Amino acid sequence: MEQKNDRKRDKNRLLYKKVKKASFWGSIISFIITMIMVAVIMTVTLWLFASYVAASKLQNEYDRIENLAKMYEAGDNSVVHAVLDNGENDYVVLDSSGQKLHTSGTDTRMEGPEKADLSEFLKNVDIYRDSERNIFYVSEGRLRVNWGEVFKYIGNEAVEIQADEQHLNDGDEYITVYSDDDFYENGTKIINFPLWIAVDVKDGAEKFAGKASFSVNVNDLFLFGIVSIIIIVLVLILLITMLVNVISSIVRQIRIVGLFFEDPITKGHNWMYFLIRGEQYLRKGRAARDTYAVVNMVLVNYRNYCLCHSVEDGEKLLGSIYNKVQRSLSPKEMCAHTTASNFALILNVSDEDSAKRRLYEIISDIRGIDQEHKLSMKVGVDIVRPWLDAKGRVVKRKSFSMDTSYNNACTARASIEDTDETEIVIFDEKLVEEEKWLDMVQEKQEQAVRNEEFQVYYQPKYDPRTNVLRGAEALIRWESPDFGFVTPGRFIPIFEKNGFITEIDHYMLTHVARDQKRWLDEGYNLVPVSVNVSRAHFVESDLAEQIRDMVDREGAPHNLIEIELTESAFFDDKKAMIDTIRKLKEYGFTVSMDDFGSGYSSLNSLKDMPLDVLKLDADFFRGSGDDGRGEIVVSEAIKLAQSLNMRTVAEGVEVKDQVDFLAAEGCDMIQGYYFAKPMPVHEYESRMKNGFATV
Ligand code: C2E
Ligand code: CA
Ligand code: CA
Repeated sequence: MEQKNDRKRDKNRLLYKKVKKASFWGSIISFIITMIMVAVIMTVTLWLFASYVAASKLQNEYDRIENLAKMYEAGDNSVVHAVLDNGENDYVVLDSSGQKLHTSGTDTRMEGPEKADLSEFLKNVDIYRDSERNIFYVSEGRLRVNWGEVFKYIGNEAVEIQADEQHLNDGDEYITVYSDDDFYENGTKIINFPLWIAVDVKDGAEKFAGKASFSVNVNDLFLFGIVSIIIIVLVLILLITMLVNVISSIVRQIRIVGLFFEDPITKGHNWMYFLIRGEQYLRKGRAARDTYAVVNMVLVNYRNYCLCHSVEDGEKLLGSIYNKVQRSLSPKEMCAHTTASNFALILNVSDEDSAKRRLYEIISDIRGIDQEHKLSMKVGVDIVRPWLDAKGRVVKRKSFSMDTSYNNACTARASIEDTDETEIVIFDEKLVEEEKWLDMVQEKQEQAVRNEEFQVYYQPKYDPRTNVLRGAEALIRWESPDFGFVTPGRFIPIFEKNGFITEIDHYMLTHVARDQKRWLDEGYNLVPVSVNVSRAHFVESDLAEQIRDMVDREGAPHNLIEIELTESAFFDDKKAMIDTIRKLKEYGFTVSMDDFGSGYSSLNSLKDMPLDVLKLDADFFRGSGDDGRGEIVVSEAIKLAQSLNMRTVAEGVEVKDQVDFLAAEGCDMIQGYYFAKPMPVHEYESRMKNGFATV
């Protein structure tokens, strides 16, 4: 069962991790990848487009320079030189070491050359940048002037304007001076970038570098700009759509994670939240120095509340409890509704006492929700203290397990008696031992009955005035091959809880009836033996018949069997109880009330129950120093029993004074260590033979 739960929890944890991972990283990573891809594609496209345009423009210039180079290469004759060096071509010829061999026009090359790898469109060429960037072009005649030499263009003549005459007169027609390298061609602005292109000549022995003009039509540039902007806008739209998608998917996933952690009944946190977030929190460095209480808190009688009202009201109550608890928490604490009426809490406390104080405060708040009902809580607490290393320094609780801690809290809570009262129990290792013991006992119980490992011990009851043996009580002992000799205090409460007690009572009754029948046959001087019948039996309406049949099967006379009922059994169903007692008496059994005076008020039951024997609880004879008040109660109880026609048995009597007192008060029998402890069969047999107490 436990293992199954563990597996389920692990599965849930994995599922949670998956949901969480998918939510954020999936979307973010796919967004980033797409963004990078789009940016790369866009840049490459624009770059290729620009290079293509540039290369096709350069191609003409390259061809021109190559032709010039070929002319230069063609020969050293003066005709060629006359053509080349006609003043229209600016070029230089360099030897392999870069030394200038020949210059025509002005060499305005900048330092270089720079390699331009336009291999897609052109050969690999050397390009020199030109230093004359700032030249003016005068429109119409396209007269090129250098910066600083401003010309007036009058008629066909260009007239230099002095530096202080830079403002041209209004009347000077046809003159427009553009800054930068711009000029106009057929009414379109052209931007010019002069540069030098070098070509190998004479099998690479020399280089021919000619001045080229790389000009861009503004219309083309404008078109290019528009295309770029359109592409950029489209890409931006794409990216924004994607971003919106990513954000909305993250929001959706956050909601899913929220649902994963939401408790449908209280609308607060659920067990998964507590398990995962609580564990993460307590493992953190900033929680390491603090002490925490991991708490399992259960509302008592939740089912009854639902029966009295409705399931809906019950769930509303759980919601109110959750809210009350939640409101009382500090940021270092948390709360979750786990199952049914179970709540899980983490409280920041200093020690066990402060944990209890906090919890009592919380419970008293909860009580305020519904004054008409008694809202009680059963609470188990596991204290999580700071972890220390070998040198006594506080370390992170790296391997802290919420499963284990909460399980400890549940173990502590499960150890609490089943009552209507609020109770808080702090977990300690002893509880684990108890839990283990409980499991072992439950595992072995059937086998123990089959193998007759349970032994009947008899504790004699003597008349305190005459010391005559008047009866005995059958008390169970377990001689287990696994655990050795086990007293009933260690297993009867377990059987009472798990229901196996009915088997045990049948077992004991059968064995006692069998013993009595054998002793009868063997001619012993017999006295009645009482057998304990647990309250768990009283759900069976034919209990009296079952007892009769069991005793009859062994052939023992009914008057040799007494049935002990515990006081608490009288609470459950009074009518059924009275019927059963009546029937038992009809069949000739004696019926006694066990543990009279322990805990429950029982005077009322005495009034209605037709009982034969009253067994005064051992508590009356334990301790002293009550100014004789105990004796008064005992003496009055005996008188009460006498007037109701009942015999009395005093249990747990250990000292002579008590025996004398009880004898004087008219108590009929004493069952206590003073006379005898519970004993195995053969010892009891010799007690029967004797007939008198030997004290
Ligand atoms: P009980 O029915 O009240 O049994 C009396 C218990 O008091 C016995 O403990 C007995 O040994 C003990 N006792 C008797 N005289 C003295 C004394 O002078 N001093 C002290 N200190 N103790 C004395 P035991 O046998 O350990 O049984 C404990 C309880 O276990 C019983 O309480 C009874 O509730 C339950 N039990 C024992 N055997 C059976 C059984 O066969 N069936 C059921 N249902 N319960 C049983
Ligand atoms: Ca008893
Ligand atoms: Ca008793």
